[in-house]
Amino acid sequence: MKLVVMKFGGTSVGSIDKIKNVANIIEKQLNDKKLIVVLSAMSGVTNQMQEYIDEIESNEIIENDLILTSGEAVSVGLLSAILKKRNIKSIPLLGWQIPIITDSNHQKAKILNIDKVRIDKYLNDYDVLVVAGFQGIDIDGNITSLGRGGSDTTAVAVAAAVDADRCDIYTDVDGVYSTDPNLEPKAKKISKLAFEEMLEMSSTGAKVLHTRSVELAMKNNLTLQVLSSITKQSGTLVVDENKLIEKEIVSGVSFSNNESKLTLSGIADKPGISATIFGLLANNNINVDMIVQNTSQDGVTANITFTVPNNEIHNAKKILEENQNLIDFKSIETDSNISKISVIGMGMMSQSGVAKKMFTTLADNSINILAISTSEIKISVLINKKFTKIAVKSLHEAYNLDN
Ligand code: ASP
Ligand code: MG
Repeated sequence: MKLVVMKFGGTSVGSIDKIKNVANIIEKQLNDKKLIVVLSAMSGVTNQMQEYIDEIESNEIIENDLILTSGEAVSVGLLSAILKKRNIKSIPLLGWQIPIITDSNHQKAKILNIDKVRIDKYLNDYDVLVVAGFQGIDIDGNITSLGRGGSDTTAVAVAAAVDADRCDIYTDVDGVYSTDPNLEPKAKKISKLAFEEMLEMSSTGAKVLHTRSVELAMKNNLTLQVLSSITKQSGTLVVDENKLIEKEIVSGVSFSNNESKLTLSGIADKPGISATIFGLLANNNINVDMIVQNTSQDGVTANITFTVPNNEIHNAKKILEENQNLIDFKSIETDSNISKISVIGMGMMSQSGVAKKMFTTLADNSINILAISTSEIKISVLINKKFTKIAVKSLHEAYNLDN
């Protein structure tokens, strides 16, 4: 018997009618397989929970996770009850019941283990397991959450644990696009892309899949399919690089406004300074993305610029200010009015001129580049936020991605 994991996001279970629609999709799949169905909370519910937490200014990580993960209990209960009404053998399961064991990093917990033996037992007795996404339990018995958007990760982790034949991620878009269609209506749907490309897209701003779910799928070589729960069109397959017949030089342009930049001016140009700066940040769990260093006009001191997530910028500044005696900088400046634009494609590994085209296109539009970073399959630049749209549109056109 085949075993398929299906995941439905918040908009796909956003009302009773939509949950009934999910039940229809499940019913159609059932004749020759067993299903594990992972759900998000009904759309807006997790946001509402976060608002409650903010309203009481709660810093209680255990209670906060209990509140945040509550929405999934509702969607899972509703779907399973609807399935039972249709005489489908279904069971609702919260994270702790399986159990999905995580570490204790509340609100960004990592899955450590999923009990396959228990799942197999459930699969023996039921045809559909309806599993709450986004949640787990730590060794102390506390409920944890995996970070916003984390039910994708639950689905992939469960699929990997039970060695499922497929993992289908149903969402409110019908696939992965070459860029955000809200910004560029000429964006086109990508029929197949490599894990590496999807990973770069997720981490540089495309919001289709939770980044960790892609990492996990890649690690387990588990093909993902992203598709719509509304339209019947085929979606996007995320596969191992070897399964790509043709590697696009650039398959997508992504953008993110989630980072802020910090510049330290007048630091001593000598060994050990960068190690001190980034050591301080690492010790405080602050993730640094792009880094640029240049010698200042006097030739003796240097300036260093780097980016961190928006919600870490104040903390980063404070830590560096507190350690001014160690680093000995003249001034410190932050800027949140920036945007990171990335072009991504497996084919750029073996192709020259990709960077040149990016820089020329931006220059032709009088867009100044504030920082650059690259990987084998990605080039990212930092620009002023007000140029986001024009940058994305012109790059999309320059790399022949327009539909
Ligand atoms: N309900 C959670 C959230 O909104 C998890 C998810 O939807 O993936 O972040
Ligand atoms: Mg999502």
